Parts: sequence; C-alpha cells; structure tokens
Amino acid sequence: MTSAAAVDFSTWETIVGLEVHAQLKTRTKLYCGCRTVFGDPPNTHVCPVCLGLPGSLPVLNETAFEMALKAALALGCGLAPFTKWDRKNYYYPDLPKNYQISQYDLPFATRGKLEIDLDGARKTIGITRVHLEEDAGKLVHDAHARGSGVDLNRAGTPLIEIVSEPDLRTPAEARAYMEALARILEYLDVCDCNMQEGSLRCDANVSIRPRGQQAFNTRREIKNMNSFRFVEQAIVQEVEDQKRIYAEGGKVVQSTRLFNGQTGEIRTMRTKEEASDYRYFPEPDLPPVTLSEAQIERVRATIEELPEARFERYTKRMGLPEKDARTLVDYRAQGAYFDALVKAGIEPKPAANWVISDSQGVLKERGVSLDACGVTPGQCAELLKLVEQGALNRATAKEKVFPAMLDAKGAKHAAAIVQEQGLAQVSDTGAIERAVAEVLKAEQKLVADYVAGKDAVVNALFGRCMKALKGQGNPQVLRPLLESKLQALRAKN
Ligand SMILES: [Zn+2]
Repeated sequence: MTSAAAVDFSTWETIVGLEVHAQLKTRTKLYCGCRTVFGDPPNTHVCPVCLGLPGSLPVLNETAFEMALKAALALGCGLAPFTKWDRKNYYYPDLPKNYQISQYDLPFATRGKLEIDLDGARKTIGITRVHLEEDAGKLVHDAHARGSGVDLNRAGTPLIEIVSEPDLRTPAEARAYMEALARILEYLDVCDCNMQEGSLRCDANVSIRPRGQQAFNTRREIKNMNSFRFVEQAIVQEVEDQKRIYAEGGKVVQSTRLFNGQTGEIRTMRTKEEASDYRYFPEPDLPPVTLSEAQIERVRATIEELPEARFERYTKRMGLPEKDARTLVDYRAQGAYFDALVKAGIEPKPAANWVISDSQGVLKERGVSLDACGVTPGQCAELLKLVEQGALNRATAKEKVFPAMLDAKGAKHAAAIVQEQGLAQVSDTGAIERAVAEVLKAEQKLVADYVAGKDAVVNALFGRCMKALKGQGNPQVLRPLLESKLQALRAKN
C-alpha cells in the first residue's frame, strides 16, 4: 500500500467522454403510431408493437430518421450511405421485447465535432458516432404498496445517442459540452432538452491518468445526472473517488455508477457489461436504409442558423459585445426578438440593451417572457424609435410606456400612450433650467459638498432634477446644463 502522500495528483489529468441520449420531438414513436407524451397515466400510449407482442412488426418513423439526420449534419458528421438496425439483447422489466432496436456496427453517422466555449476559450470536441434507437419504458417504484409497476408509455420513443470522443479534460468542459449540444438540438427543433424530465440524458465515462501517459486507465460510467450542474458536480466527485482508490494503491474496476443529486454521492450499481454481453445481431424485421444525396440535401436545407453562426453574426457583423451576443444566443427566443427589432430599423446595441436588460424588469415582475408578452417586435421598435428621436427618455420608456403597452396587450401604440399620459420627454431648455434652479436652491448641502470638491454629488443632484421633471427630462440637455451651473458656483468660491 502506498500512502496518499505518495501520489502527486497535480500531474494527473481527467479524461471524460459523454454518451448523450436525446429524445426526438416526434409526434409518434419510432416503430409504431403511438403518441409520445410525457406525464400521461401509465400504459395509455401502447400497442402490440411497443408492447412487444408476438407477431407485431415495426415500421420505421421517417420523421424520426430525418430529425436524427438533421442533428448529425449539424454536428458535422459523415453519413454512412448504408445503415442498418440491430437488436441489443438484455432482460429488464421495462423492456418487454427483451431487446432494444438500436444500431451497432453501422451507425448512420460518425466522426463529427462540437465546439465548446469556456469563458472565451474555444475547444473542439470530437463526436465518435450518432445513432438512432428506441427508448425503454419506466419502472414506477413508489405507486404501489407491494412491488413496482411498469409504465410502457415511453417504450419505443425515438432517441438519438450521441457519443463523444474522450476529449473532455475537466468537469467544467463536460458541462459546457452538454450545454452547447443542448443549444444546437434546441435550435434544430429536434429535442426539447429537458434534463429534469429526461428528454436529454447523459452518461459520463470518467478516468484519470498521469499526464503524458498514452494509455487510458480504467474508466467508470456515471448515470443519473439530471441537470447540467449535476453533470459537472458528479464528475468532480467521481474524480475524487478515483484519486482515493489510486492513493490507497487500489485499482479502479470498470463499472456503472449512479449519482445521487440529493447527497452528491455516487454508488456502484453493477460492474460493466461488455458489448459482447448484449449479443447484438441484425434486426430481421426492419430493412436497412440506403441514404440518397437528394435526401441528405433536402434535410440539410432545413437547418437554420446554428448557435455559433449566430454568435459570429452578432459579434463580427453587428459589432455587439461578446457578453450581449452570448446571452442572445443562449436565450434563443430573445435572439429572435432582437433580430426582429433590428429588422424593424433599431440599431443593434440599443436593441440588445432593450431585449437583455431594459424590458426584463417589468417582464420578470409579471412572470412573462418577451416573446409571449403580447407586444410585437414592431410595436417595441416604435417605442425605441421615440427614444432614439429624443421624444421619450429611456427610463420613461422602460418604467411607464412599456408596462402600459403590456397592459394593453399590444392594442395601444407607444406614441398614443406617451400622448395620453403626457410622458413626452422635456427637452425645452427653459423648463429644464427652472427645474435645475429649484433643485440647487433646495439642496444647499449637496451644492456645498460639490463646491468643496465632491464631484460625485452631481449624480444625486441629477436625480433630484430628473425627479422634479417627473422623470421626463432629456438627460442630454439636463446633465450639461446642471454641470455648467455647478462649475460656475465652484468657480465663484
Ligand atoms: Zn405502440
């Protein structure tokens, strides 16, 4: 036995590969016409095919196949001209056929890649393969006093399995990979990527080794990480567990382990099966598929702008700061709203400010998102144009006019609200001068502080003047006027 101090883990590295299962957003299952719905009463969406009754025959869902193709193309995979289906044999109560129809030696897509971004550092992660397979049912353990129940609503739901190369080197990279992958699948509209509900699932293969060592050490597979945060947290824990084993002079045994999100612990479920344990063989009831160039091109044409391309467009072509661009890319609906504002003639930076920050306060208060708030981008653009033209100040637009537009559910134009409520910006020098004079008279203490050299009190005085103008003063007129009056007072002393 070596003691813990004998191993210097600072020279070791972590190796992670992820196997992701994404449930495709088809209306029906992969080999039958049953609906794919989450949360319905058990066994209400089943038929002889997905129940695995003798004599029933599967028929491939073409929409599922094309969604899978779309994902593979977006991930830069090479497509196999010829692909076939295989039975993966194992026994489990949630698998009535005792085999899963999957793909083994001839998956339809291989050798793709996914770019991740970790605080500005880009890294490309290889994708080994993408294949199509059916999901199993679910065991329900807490609904019955004695024993467990089986719910087969999920049995036969289409999944794509996306296997990464062991290119990930830290738990944070693994999380970034999952987030980037989910974003792409969401942009493609092929998966709703809800990790809590299980429409996006992830198994992590984790090993550690001294840096410079070519061979991989034995890996262990972790399951049941049902959030992006848990993916990172579980790998951190697994690395610690493996270090302890090596430090004590032990050997890591290949195994499958379950993460517990409540305790943060991982326990071993079983020692790992080899592929040969599954006795894969070709599925006799489904014909192989030969892909045509025409079909590939037709699917390729349905791929719209992907997250990284959108990020490039926002930063390089529109000149947005990376932080703004990242937010608009991450929140796809906000990005679409932003694009519509720009299309309606608003400059990118004010449009981004509006979408990311100005509109968010009142929307959060009301618990509604911008894309579902009832005010169209065109109507918002009218509001922002009033600000741009100086007819309205930004604060009034955000705090008074926009809430009134929300109340009217888009039935009232910004200009009408401004007029009705008398919210127009005051740019008139006479009115602003009067307000400044009043405030300077009333705020002797602040004025004295300024004269004594405290420049920062300008902001407080500015706030008082704006208040006197009911928040409607034009800051571009008010601020210089206030500053020149104050400077004159300081000069006199
Ligand atoms: Zn069915």
